[in-house]
This record gives sequence, C-alpha cells and structure tokens, in this order.
Amino acid sequence: MTPPTRTILVTGSTSGIGLGIALAFAARNCNVVLNGLGSADQIAEAVRSVQALTTGTVTHDPANMMVPGEISAMVERATAIHGRLDVLVNNAGIQHVAPVEDFPPDKWDAIIAINLSSAFHATRAAMPGMARAGWGRIINIASAHGLVASPFKSAYVAAKHGVVGFTKAVALEHARDGVTCNAICPGYVLTPLVKAQIPDQAKARGITEDEVVRDVLLAAQPTKQFVTVEQIGALCLFLASDEGASVNGAALAMDGGWTAQ
Ligand code: NAD
Repeated sequence: MTPPTRTILVTGSTSGIGLGIALAFAARNCNVVLNGLGSADQIAEAVRSVQALTTGTVTHDPANMMVPGEISAMVERATAIHGRLDVLVNNAGIQHVAPVEDFPPDKWDAIIAINLSSAFHATRAAMPGMARAGWGRIINIASAHGLVASPFKSAYVAAKHGVVGFTKAVALEHARDGVTCNAICPGYVLTPLVKAQIPDQAKARGITEDEVVRDVLLAAQPTKQFVTVEQIGALCLFLASDEGASVNGAALAMDGGWTAQ
C-alpha cells in the first residue's frame, strides 16, 4: 500500500452511515478522524474496524456537535494531527417524530444544531485550510427530506432543506479554489437512527411497526429496498476523487427513485 495521502473527518461516525463512509475511505488508505457519541466499547470497536483497513492514522474526536466551540476545536485538532484536512463529511444527525403542535422545542433546537448548524461550524473551520491548499471536498449528508417533506418531521425537514441551501452557497463561494461542496440526499437506510423512529411512527400513525416499514418507510422508495451505507460510501469516494471535481453545489438524490415521483 502507498502511504496515506488524504485525511478525512466524518462527523457522527461511530455508527450507521458515518461509520460506513469512514470504512470506505479507510479502504482507500486514508487517515481518518472519527467523531460521535457512544460507549467506550462502541467507540473503540469503531476505531478498530476502521484502523483494520488503512495504514493511516485513525483517531476519535469526542466533540459534541451541539457545541460550536467543540466543533471548531475538532477541526483544528484534526488539521494539527495530520498537517491538513482534505475531506470533511458533515454527517452527524438525529431525528424526532411528532406533530408540529406537540413538537418539543428542545428537540427542535437540538435537531437544528446537530443536523444543520454543525455543518456550518465545521465548514467554517475547515475552509481556510482547504482553500489555501487549493484542494478540498465538503460532503454534507442531507436526506431525501432535504428535497421533499413528510409529516411529523418538521425540524428534520427544515434542517435538511437548510443543509441543501447551505451546500449551494458554500459551493459558489469556493468554486475557484479547488474546493467542492455537495449534498447527498439518501432515502431510507436501515441504521440505528431509522430503527429508533419505527416505534414513534407507529404511535403517531396508530399502526404496527411492520406496517411502518412496509407502508411508511419503503412506501416512498420505488425500489422497495433500503439504501445501503456501502452505496453512500461509494458516492462519497467519487465526490472526493479528482474525477468528481466538476460536481459542485449538487444535491444528489440516492433514494431508489423516491424524489422522482
Ligand atoms: P445513526 O444514529 O446511526 O448515527 C448518527 C451519528 O451521529 C452517530 O455516530 C451519533 O453518535 C452521532 N451524533 C448524534 N448526536 C451527536 C452529537 N451531539 N455530537 C456528535 N455526534 C453525534 O444515524 P444514521 O442513520 O447513520 O444518520 C447519519 C446521517 O444520515 C444523519 O445526518 C441523518 O439525518 C442522515 N440520513 C439518514 C438516513 C437513514 O435512513 N438512516 C436517510 C437520510 C439521511
């Protein structure tokens, strides 16, 4: 293997899609900075699984994506460890499902902070180094809910539409600096985030959990298949390649055709 040439930071990568993206870049022998919550065992297992694929350095940064100062410090630490940060994936996210009139204000604030504002704080901290280097990739994991809405997800839909708009603005600002900024808009992926909302959806809609999977989650996806973390990782690798340099400011649907309807 050739020595690691790229360094990637993935927020929210102790689980689900973020961990899948980290594994995809580790398999290309990158240095990887993981981030996210979890037990000591879960974090150690995530680091171990990613380190097994790369000769680069794999670390975990515990920054809380609700705290702006911790986010900028995380980007500074990643840059200090590796000398540069080439790829930033803003992936951390949470969900809460409730009718708008019952939506807890603290859940609204947390979803806006983690799903939208953290991407701003991380990008703000990473951009000067990328622009100076004349090469950088920012990939925001939005959602099909960045393009269309579903009921009972007002905060999530608002945050993800915000991520798509933020992506476009950043892409325009740095188009001539070798830095691209794109959003990926996945449909449903069977991660802990989705598994956790099945009981809430069942309660909000008065149906069984099996009916939620069949009639709510996969009802929207014409392929009737969950999107996989490996598919999202592969799209991230393309966006981070030199061949992906002309994809900029895009909101790329990866949803089995959901938003084509
Ligand atoms: P997940 O729950 O498996 O992972 C979320 C990650 O974010 C975890 O590592 C968690 O520790 C981290 N996180 C949560 N709060 C944090 C905080 N305050 N500080 C730091 N890290 C924090 O979820 P997932 O399904 O892998 O979702 C990842 C992203 O993909 C989210 O932005 C989500 O909105 C988006 N997405 C998911 C789906 C899906 O169907 N699963 C579809 C479209 C978009």
